[in-house]
Amino acid sequence: MSRELCGHCHYPVINCVCEDITPVSHQTKVVVLQHPSEVKNAKSTVRLLSLLCNNIEVVVGEKSQDFAELQRDVAYKPEQYLILYPSEKSRNWQQWQAYWQQSSRPLECELPNKPTSQKTLIVIDGTWKKAKKILFLNPWLENINALKIDNKPSEYDIRHTSISGALSTIEATAYALNAIENTSTAPFLRALDSLKSSFTRQMPEHVKSRYKKG
Ligand SMILES: [Zn+2]
Repeated sequence: MSRELCGHCHYPVINCVCEDITPVSHQTKVVVLQHPSEVKNAKSTVRLLSLLCNNIEVVVGEKSQDFAELQRDVAYKPEQYLILYPSEKSRNWQQWQAYWQQSSRPLECELPNKPTSQKTLIVIDGTWKKAKKILFLNPWLENINALKIDNKPSEYDIRHTSISGALSTIEATAYALNAIENTSTAPFLRALDSLKSSFTRQMPEHVKSRYKKG
């Protein structure tokens, strides 16, 4: 089967999502650690994410050497980083803000509305198993403040993937940006919906019914 790719979105032409891409402007830098097995996955949502985000970097790898540069940056300014990962130590954005406010106790001038310094959000892209592998091979990631997002239903039921709970990488990132800087999740969900319907359109009925919402 030929898989001609769209020159702009790089999805197969039959799955082209260009019409439903509205770029989003955000301050928080997004760094995606993408497992190599996701790179050629037609259903990966990272490509969509890259088309939408104005401040994003995708680093493909698995071992710590693959992420050496990021690891150095994190070691230099750990407080600037957040990793999107549900763990015992993870907090949602409000909890982190409260925590930072409590622990900073500025001595001279207190600025209650001081803008939060710019953050870099690290997102792991891979199936649970692959993402766990990245974490296992990169113990330095566990020292980064972990961000969790409050439960949101996943719209992306084509694949049961992503380390961020049941959410796809694009949904998890959209909700995180929304929590951090109030970015609208709509362009992300619209693009995802477009990708999703482009895939379900091609499915035979009996397969499609498996993805119907109950
Ligand atoms: Zn396209």
